[in-house]
Amino acid sequence: SGSLTVGQFAEKIGRPSTDIIKKLMALGVMATKNQDLDKDTIELLAGDYGVAVEEEVIVDEADFEADGLEIDEKTAVIRPPVVTIMGHVDHGKTTLLDSIRHTKVTAGEAGGITQHIGAYQVVHEGKRITFLDTPGHAAFTTMRARGAEITDITVLVVAADDGVMPQTIEAIHHARAAKVPIIVAVNKIDKPNANPDHVMQELSEQGLVPEDWGGDTIFVKISAKQGIGIDDLLEMILLVAEVEEFKANPDKLARGAVIEAQLDKGKGPIATLLVQNGTLNVGDPIVVGSTFGRVRAMVNDLGRRVKKAGPSTPVEITGLNNVPLAGDQFIVFADEKKARQIGEIRAERALITERKETTTKVSLDDLFEK
Ligand code: GDP
Ligand code: MG
Repeated sequence: SGSLTVGQFAEKIGRPSTDIIKKLMALGVMATKNQDLDKDTIELLAGDYGVAVEEEVIVDEADFEADGLEIDEKTAVIRPPVVTIMGHVDHGKTTLLDSIRHTKVTAGEAGGITQHIGAYQVVHEGKRITFLDTPGHAAFTTMRARGAEITDITVLVVAADDGVMPQTIEAIHHARAAKVPIIVAVNKIDKPNANPDHVMQELSEQGLVPEDWGGDTIFVKISAKQGIGIDDLLEMILLVAEVEEFKANPDKLARGAVIEAQLDKGKGPIATLLVQNGTLNVGDPIVVGSTFGRVRAMVNDLGRRVKKAGPSTPVEITGLNNVPLAGDQFIVFADEKKARQIGEIRAERALITERKETTTKVSLDDLFEK
């Protein structure tokens, strides 16, 4: 983007260069055909000729790709790990999430009313851990399909009275595809028919060999229901995090992903964002998927208003023009105008794609209805 010569400008508006040169002379500017016009002059001329200048915005789609999250080692600091809990239905994912949240959040934050924003943070031995609280597989797969890689560690919950099941295998595949380390939580050890050794055996066959058996997979025996082994599990998560050294640059403009979003009657679109790099501030101009806006207010997982959110922090924001999708990526721009332009272009594109999809769907439905 940027400059145009007199000749190029003339061509764009379909006038002879001499016209433009004359006009410039009238404005007291001596110009030749090959002279560069600055932005202000272009706007002035455009106004005179009654044409709208649309500044060409280079929408760098690469900005929205995962490698745009690259860490600058010079200013990088350790950030909390982001953990997803996966496993077969009824193996205890929700109970585990509740148990972790209950023991850690309510104990640490007396009187704090926790609110469900799709993710929460706990503090264990002075270190923070972020848990994604979205319904396991669906969220994970949609997010990955939309290009968001937000999980650092997967906790694979396997019920000791049931063993490895289809969704256990599926979870292993997802974690491996995303190159995310797996910690196994052998759950329901309180049950009389619990057989943790059997689970270890079955998972070894899947390539997850326990450390005790000479492998390198961490297994923790827990009872999500009775709160047994929860601290051990948190400790293991922190251990893996320490080895992996997840980092971020809090000094940068924020970027990250949408955990969930909906339309609130009073507040308008609200979205839970996970800051993956940088720091998000109230007032930041932001592009979120195919929508944009300015962060009006931020609320943390305890329902408290915050002004800033650093790396690995989940926050619920308002101030967007539209409701984004889970897994959409967000980027903060220093300049509101740029955020708006990019947001508008992306919205337009999304609309075109949506129209195409709708058209296809309609024609398919038509076929089947006959
Ligand atoms: P999810 O489908 O993986 O989210 O599983 P839930 O957390 O909903 O748990 C399914 C059932 O198992 C519920 O009835 C829980 O109370 C029960 N459950 C979960 N964890 C344990 C546990 O550690 N011990 C026992 N005995 N029951 C558990
Ligand atoms: Mg559940």
